Amino acid sequence: MGHYDGMVYEGSFRELRISLNRLIYDKGVKCPSCGKEYDSYSIEFEEHDGGLMFDKYGQKYWVWITCHNCKYQAALWKLFRQIKPSEIGIGILYVNVEKDWRDYIDEEFSRMKGDLDNAIARFARGLKGIEDRVIGIFGCDVEQVRGYLVAKVAREIFGTIADLSLVGMVEDESRSNQ
Ligand SMILES: [Zn+2]
Repeated sequence: MGHYDGMVYEGSFRELRISLNRLIYDKGVKCPSCGKEYDSYSIEFEEHDGGLMFDKYGQKYWVWITCHNCKYQAALWKLFRQIKPSEIGIGILYVNVEKDWRDYIDEEFSRMKGDLDNAIARFARGLKGIEDRVIGIFGCDVEQVRGYLVAKVAREIFGTIADLSLVGMVEDESRSNQ
């Protein structure tokens, strides 16, 4: 596991320098080696597989701050205790994953709208039947039954989708359709 796993920066080198300079000044960030507040320092970048993902360049870069007092080169992640990644504008990659998934779902749903409306109506009737039966037997609250079912069923459905994508069955099926 790298120090920047799941992290992504959307700005440029210049933008990162600007926000780092501001944060270092505002927060009185200290050099992890000599312990002095950064006064004179430089910020540098170099392509590196274990570095921070720069969305703009489609590349990972190692980012480090050189203290001109003691010459220590601190990797950016070593300053995360003093500056939170979110303060710098570093996002979490999963934001992109979620966005892609939502876009895909929107597209898929519009494609299968008619089928889905029918399926959803059937599911709604099924759900209503189960709820009525459970409530009739146990006399419990409808919200409680629905909450339980929705959470459980959603987890199972998405678990199945995730498993299928893992074993590559989705890919095999699309190939056999060609
Ligand atoms: Zn230093």
